[in-house]
Amino acid sequence: MSEQIQSILVLGGGSAGLIAAISLKRKIPHVNVTLLRSSDIGIIGVGEGTTPNFPAHMFDYLGIKRKTFFAIAKPTWKLGIRFLWGKRGRFDYTFDRQMDHQFADLSMPSGYYCDEDFSCASYPAALMRHDKVFPRQENGCPDVKGWHAFHIENENLVDLLERVAREIGVDFVEGKLQGAEAAADGKLRSILLEDDRKLTADFFVDASGFRSELLGGFYQEEFVSFRNSLFCDRAVAGGWKRTNEPILPYTTAETMNAGWAWQIEHEHHINRGYVYSSESISDEQAVEEFCRKNPLAPREPRLIKFRSGYYRRQWRENVVAIGNAGGFVEPLEATALMIVCGNVQMLVEMLQRSHLQPSPTMRSLFNRMAEKTWLDIRDFLALHYKFNTLVDTEFWRRCREQTDVSGIQDLIDYYRENGPTGFCRYLLSGTQNDFGLEGYLVMLVGMGVPYEHQSKLSEAERLRWLQYQQTFSSQAMQAMDVKEALGYVHHPQWQWNGD
Ligand SMILES: Cc1cc2nc3c(=O)[nH]c(=O)nc-3n(C[C@H](O)[C@H](O)[C@H](O)COP(=O)(O)OP(=O)(O)OC[C@H]3O[C@@H](n4cnc5c(N)ncnc54)[C@H](O)[C@@H]3O)c2cc1C
Repeated sequence: MSEQIQSILVLGGGSAGLIAAISLKRKIPHVNVTLLRSSDIGIIGVGEGTTPNFPAHMFDYLGIKRKTFFAIAKPTWKLGIRFLWGKRGRFDYTFDRQMDHQFADLSMPSGYYCDEDFSCASYPAALMRHDKVFPRQENGCPDVKGWHAFHIENENLVDLLERVAREIGVDFVEGKLQGAEAAADGKLRSILLEDDRKLTADFFVDASGFRSELLGGFYQEEFVSFRNSLFCDRAVAGGWKRTNEPILPYTTAETMNAGWAWQIEHEHHINRGYVYSSESISDEQAVEEFCRKNPLAPREPRLIKFRSGYYRRQWRENVVAIGNAGGFVEPLEATALMIVCGNVQMLVEMLQRSHLQPSPTMRSLFNRMAEKTWLDIRDFLALHYKFNTLVDTEFWRRCREQTDVSGIQDLIDYYRENGPTGFCRYLLSGTQNDFGLEGYLVMLVGMGVPYEHQSKLSEAERLRWLQYQQTFSSQAMQAMDVKEALGYVHHPQWQWNGD
């Protein structure tokens, strides 16, 4: 039996390290939690879209007050992603169910009615279509629904998290890791700093970002590359100050010549970035295309290099990697903070259940589940590339021909024969990832991937479907846009029910 953990050292003060430190301290208050970070190295400073598990983690799991969160992190709401993608050229993916759903008076799941027109298939989808975010309550206030995520500027989020961490008793140490020492049993014992200080702890969280100082550096854990499925490895990013553009309630993912571009909506800024493959175009070509499409973007956008993949075991001995230190995929579905929150909750629960003496079987279960999460995300993103027929460049031809989707070949084969049925769920690996079957079906139907057994819908059914679309659409037109809803929640007298 291992010794009981009394102290935890979190290496890294980016959003991953802070979320880990706060969650550990909040849920296991008697443990000493120290966070080490280096302001010389700084934080990555990008990463601005979330999925719905993020607000749930902040408010329901950690109990952070919405009032405080909105005042400091200044998020806007994200109902989903608008894809400028596939043969239709455009479709909306919402966090509520559109495709994994069937209306009681229709004979088929919704996806079968969307061959020609994939719009307003649900109320949230109609809100997206009309650039609205929430319905109005009878008193005129926004009815803030649960099916949303956030757009948040990374630095504002880190600011908010740091304040919360200090408030609940996380200790902060400034310094730069230079080395580490393990005991004879292989467990990490201490971290050595550049100025010769030595920090010891019983347990360590490696949240050192792409540097992965402990898991990748000290333990030399094997890195599993996604290079056969995801070809992009760079991004250029830069935004501009909002003037009179509407604040859209979604992220836009736009097909580009050698990748895709995001557009993220903050209250006072619009942020754009082009994710591309350096094997297909040069950095100069990427900047040229990016600036041509975005005349307001800076002429010298920030260049970020990355590799897609994950470390085989996220938990080695007494070290767990969280955030970019454990793995990374491009932000096509903004999944990084989703994995951070999911893995942190799993870690906390395992430490609680083991009375702070985690066993080897617990560690290997964590690693198995984390690995499934990564592979599910790889497959989901690969699907986006495999069937995007919007443009015909060398990069996209390569994606269609060479993207490895073997992890979901059964699902694709089933879909191609049978279409978007709920049975597809039994061909997925079953993870906690927010997108689930809904995400896969939205992408397949949205991109117009053909299937054999097209249903012969009666005229009456077609009309009924059209009525649903029209009803959602007219209801959504009465709803509130983001600017108006923000006006309410920033009002000093605004009270959040959940607080
Ligand atoms: C182009 C791009 C777009 C992205 N978009 C999204 C998105 O939309 N949604 C999303 O969820 N995620 C996105 N991400 C991922 C995002 O970066 C992460 O979700 C998030 O910021 C977590 O980063 P981190 O805390 O792991 O790393 P970092 O922010 O890099 O933090 C690392 C920390 O470790 C410290 N550190 C490192 N080495 C040492 C050392 N030797 N000694 C002391 N301290 C050290 C640093 O000082 C820092 O505090 C994106 C990433 C990229 C590259």
